[in-house]
Amino acid sequence: QAKAAGRNTLRFFDPQMQAVASARAALDARLREAIRDEQFSLHYQAQVCGLGADGAEQGWRITGVEALLRWLDPLHGPVSPAVFIPLAEETGLILPLGAWVLEAACEQLASWAKEPDLAHLTVAVNVSARQFHQPDFVSQVLTVLARTGANPQRLKLELTESILVANVEDIISKMTALKAQGVGFSLDDFGTGYSSLSYLKRLPLDQLKIDQSFIRDLLVDANDAVIAKMVIALAGSLGLSVIAEGVETEAQRDFLAAQGCHAYQGYLFGRPLPVAEFEQLALRQA
Ligand code: C2E
Ligand code: MG
Ligand code: MG
Ligand code: MG
Repeated sequence: QAKAAGRNTLRFFDPQMQAVASARAALDARLREAIRDEQFSLHYQAQVCGLGADGAEQGWRITGVEALLRWLDPLHGPVSPAVFIPLAEETGLILPLGAWVLEAACEQLASWAKEPDLAHLTVAVNVSARQFHQPDFVSQVLTVLARTGANPQRLKLELTESILVANVEDIISKMTALKAQGVGFSLDDFGTGYSSLSYLKRLPLDQLKIDQSFIRDLLVDANDAVIAKMVIALAGSLGLSVIAEGVETEAQRDFLAAQGCHAYQGYLFGRPLPVAEFEQLALRQA
């Protein structure tokens, strides 16, 4: 009987699915090693504010950075976060990884605070839903801030709409506790999730971040242009700031500026860079 069941199982065995599963298992094992061997670093991408009236901007200045996790696998080279973050979220490895990112970003913040030309920078850190939903998330963040001496006013946490699967009261109380210490919140990839506007209104956010998928074809796809305009208007009426991610061209920036969005992040202003290179960029600007 058991033997027959075994044979049945084998008959339905799908080699392609098996290949995917073992590739995932191999990646998971490498990721565990990478955490142990500290193969990670942070890159920093400028967030800028355009200078000037509506329409064409008269230059820009760097107001802060987004910290972006980088994994340099000694055998396979750089691995994209788009590949390893979703896996780390599934397996729970995002918890130690996310804690490392927060610590490293706060250390950077504390070290910039001592440099007159860099002390004004804010640092935005991506926080995955699973990380945010840990019962002790608030005390983890406060502990790291205290240990590193980073100014909470300069720390911004980027959440995505995926956090909204959980109890909204719990989300609000965590955000409120951190905001009381000065930590800011930005809603990342806005427009790609499923959050209802009534939830959005209740969350104590500071900023909406227009997803880059709406910016890419801003000037050729009328739907994207309408969505971008709507998000900008929505942010305005909710009393939130708005930043556009993935801005690559002056034409995109000018369109956004004309709609009243003056904060940008994208290759037009700078790619994500290792810390020394980012500092050079920021000091040239200053
Ligand atoms: P995200 O938070 O939306 O980050 C923005 C992504 O857009 C980054 O990709 C950045 O390199 C890319 N980008 C910035 N400007 C441009 C542009 O002008 N054009 C284009 N085509 N792309 C641009 P990256 O670094 O590959 O990160 C991908 C995603 O991985 C992030 O999306 C975020 O969701 C996640 N991620 C990265 N670091 C962390 C982290 O420390 N923790 C967590 N939980 N997630 C992270
Ligand atoms: Mg982000
Ligand atoms: Mg984003
Ligand atoms: Mg995105």
